[in-house]
Amino acid sequence: KAKGAGRAGYVYFDDAMTAQVQNDAELIHDLARALQNGQLSLVYQPQVELASGRLVGVESLLRWRHPQLGDIPPGRFIPLAESRGLMTEIGLWVLAESCRQWHAWRAQGLEVGHMAVNVSAVQFKGARAYESMLEAVEQASMPPGMLEIEFTESAFVEVSSETLRWIGMLSERGVHFAIDDFGTGYSSLIMLRQLRAHKLKIDREFVKDMLGDPNDAAIVHATVSLAKTLGMTVVAEGIEEAAQAEYLMGLGCDIGQGYHFARPMPAADILERYGPGAAR
Ligand code: C2E
Ligand code: MG
Ligand code: MG
Ligand code: MG
Repeated sequence: KAKGAGRAGYVYFDDAMTAQVQNDAELIHDLARALQNGQLSLVYQPQVELASGRLVGVESLLRWRHPQLGDIPPGRFIPLAESRGLMTEIGLWVLAESCRQWHAWRAQGLEVGHMAVNVSAVQFKGARAYESMLEAVEQASMPPGMLEIEFTESAFVEVSSETLRWIGMLSERGVHFAIDDFGTGYSSLIMLRQLRAHKLKIDREFVKDMLGDPNDAAIVHATVSLAKTLGMTVVAEGIEEAAQAEYLMGLGCDIGQGYHFARPMPAADILERYGPGAAR
């Protein structure tokens, strides 16, 4: 895969791969300027308590609108940003903007609950990582206890002792941690053991066919039990049907997120739907 080219130093390509690489290089070139050009934005997806349907938080999700290519999915550009050293700057912006938005909603009379922010492991690197992230939270005067960091792994980055110390310090300030996409990629039992996170998010991959596939159902069941035994709160991603929400609630899953409840949407739509003016 072309993605490996950066790390390996060199790779031999066939024609199809060459096109992919040029494309990557162009995207990276444009992505490096996307932030200052105002092409990045955030949308927010509600997270609801399954038992009551009540809004308990939102997750911020990054969007990139390229002037020629249109919307580029995060699954495409975030791994590029991570591998080419762009994610530190972008990630700090995401954190600052998410906190700013939380505060803006509050000023408009809307308490959304916690703000969940995706953070790549690469953002934990570097001597100033801890200070600059805490600064971003404090500058927005958001209570650290309302921030939840979703630890997102798209590539294996060793959870170093420095990262763990950093996470410990943020935890002491009241920041919560969630292990994202549990059971896929590199988000595994090792992370569960090392991170001592407050929440575990079951990936949509297991939720989507759970009602028809006994194996998936067993995996979800076991994951909820495991997380509960460890004293964690469990969030299920990608809930698209009422029957899935009910089933998950029966297993003891606490929080749900997915199109069944709400799609990711701009901040103004969150205010309209859940704010003081909303019809209930
Ligand atoms: P994620 O953190 O697991 O986020 C959930 C993804 O599932 C989002 O995709 C969301 O739009 C999608 N989703 C939510 N409910 C449903 C549903 O019911 N059905 C289906 N089919 N999909 C649903 P999105 O926004 O494309 O983001 C993809 C991934 O990109 C995220 O997965 C996260 O890993 C990463 N990402 C997004 N924003 C950021 C960011 O600011 N920083 C970092 N480091 N990663 C981010
Ligand atoms: Mg997430
Ligand atoms: Mg997730
Ligand atoms: Mg996921």
